[in-house]
Amino acid sequence: MDDCIFCKIIAKKIPAKIVYEDEKILAFDDLRPQAPTHTLIIPKEHYAALPDVPADKTGLIAHIFSVVPRIAEAKGIDRTGYRIVLNTGKDSGQDVFHIHFHLLGGRPMAWPPG
Ligand code: 5GP
Ligand code: ZN
Repeated sequence: MDDCIFCKIIAKKIPAKIVYEDEKILAFDDLRPQAPTHTLIIPKEHYAALPDVPADKTGLIAHIFSVVPRIAEAKGIDRTGYRIVLNTGKDSGQDVFHIHFHLLGGRPMAWPPG
């Protein structure tokens, strides 16, 4: 997607602090961190939001979750805990329409989220 900021990060046309990469996914630190650790994890294939991920691609989501503990360990938050957030659609506050998971940690989290 030519006008997608996260596709540009995947293509290395926009710099980002990459913390994990494989053939299917990319993880990089959020530009405006909301916690000491705030990393975004995205599939390299462009899907705008969760309902756009085809049923036969849900393995991609499982793959992301299988990698989360490794990223958390690398960030030093595997023992203290962390939160994964997926914003999808208007009411969630989704801002960038390339599906992404937020990995947040390094401080206690409030509940319920806003
Ligand atoms: P959303 O609100 O869509 O769930 O989250 C989008 C996130 O992307 C925000 O936390 C925002 O700070 C982050 N973000 C937006 N543009 C960029 C960028 O160019 N680089 C990085 N690293 N993060 C970005
Ligand atoms: Zn994209």
